[in-house]
Amino acid sequence: MEKLFAYYEYLHAHPELSKQEAQTCAYLMDTLEKMGYQPKRAGQYGVYADLQVDASLPWVMLRSDMDALPVTEETGVPYASQNPGVMHACGHDSHMAMLLTAAEMLQGKTLPQNIRFLFQPAEEGVTGAKEMVEAGVIPANTAAVFGMHVWPGVEKGKVLAKVGPLMASPTTIQIRVKGLGAHCGIRERGNDALMTMAQILVRSKEAESLSNGDGTILFFGKLHSGTSHNIVASEAYMNGTLRTYYPETREKVLAKLEAIVAETAAVYGTEAEVIYSSFAPAVINPEELTKRVQKLLPNVLTDIAPTRIAEDFSCYQEHAPGVLMWLGVGDTPSLHNGKFLPPRDVLPVGVDTWLRLAQHKW
Ligand SMILES: [Zn+2]
Ligand SMILES: [Zn+2]
Repeated sequence: MEKLFAYYEYLHAHPELSKQEAQTCAYLMDTLEKMGYQPKRAGQYGVYADLQVDASLPWVMLRSDMDALPVTEETGVPYASQNPGVMHACGHDSHMAMLLTAAEMLQGKTLPQNIRFLFQPAEEGVTGAKEMVEAGVIPANTAAVFGMHVWPGVEKGKVLAKVGPLMASPTTIQIRVKGLGAHCGIRERGNDALMTMAQILVRSKEAESLSNGDGTILFFGKLHSGTSHNIVASEAYMNGTLRTYYPETREKVLAKLEAIVAETAAVYGTEAEVIYSSFAPAVINPEELTKRVQKLLPNVLTDIAPTRIAEDFSCYQEHAPGVLMWLGVGDTPSLHNGKFLPPRDVLPVGVDTWLRLAQHKW
């Protein structure tokens, strides 16, 4: 483990934003080569290295993310970011360091299956996993894919492996309303886009309520409309997000929202449309594989309320049995905060977890 902190501190000091991970990619390639691996590139900046024991055996893929965030670091550590305004505020530096160290320690070991170490870029853009899947990084005969994320608020040094929903699927939503402008004194000559949108915003709660308290939220954080206090607004725009754990709920809520938008526009004589896109499914850990992980790990936690934060690890779960775990870092500042730093003594726990997972027959 002696190189763990050297890897960590280098990566922490050299953060790169999603889709710009050129130096990180080069560092990973170089470091893996020095260990004796023959790493390969996937997509733009993805990297993977294989420990192939026997071509006839199944594969296990261990995944780390790579990207940093547009956050100014405020930790004051000597190895702080050398890239102003960019910081590893989501702990992906620790993820890479832990996986690199595991790769190093497993080199030369006789394992019960083949292992692929995958370093995935652009998690924060929630597109990197899709890019990796499309680049074909999941071997045909894959028994399991594992991911691990450092997580504030979970007991320090514990590993959470929870069956079922863990992280939400995000759908971004834009609503546009087109009306007809008019002087407020003769407002009956206009079609009020602002009033239409205000009604849609209030009625959106009816759509959210169809989730029957399964954790879904339909949230709007931005609304823009109108040009002056005395003019009927001719346009309105609103942006929001839907976070769901179940595809059926997503469909129901979106269908209701579309109906509300159409009905409200009809009442005010305006035109309205809903535009939405979804980046990743929810992270849902499968029961059987997750329970096997729970049995294997000594310091495991099994239950927690799912978060509405998203993770594109779910893209791998669409193609192979996969479990995303959280590595507890205790009471630290939040992820994506300029003061976030995982306690150092947690990192060896992550390495140990990778070693146990890699050496177990799945
Ligand atoms: Zn993040
Ligand atoms: Zn993250």
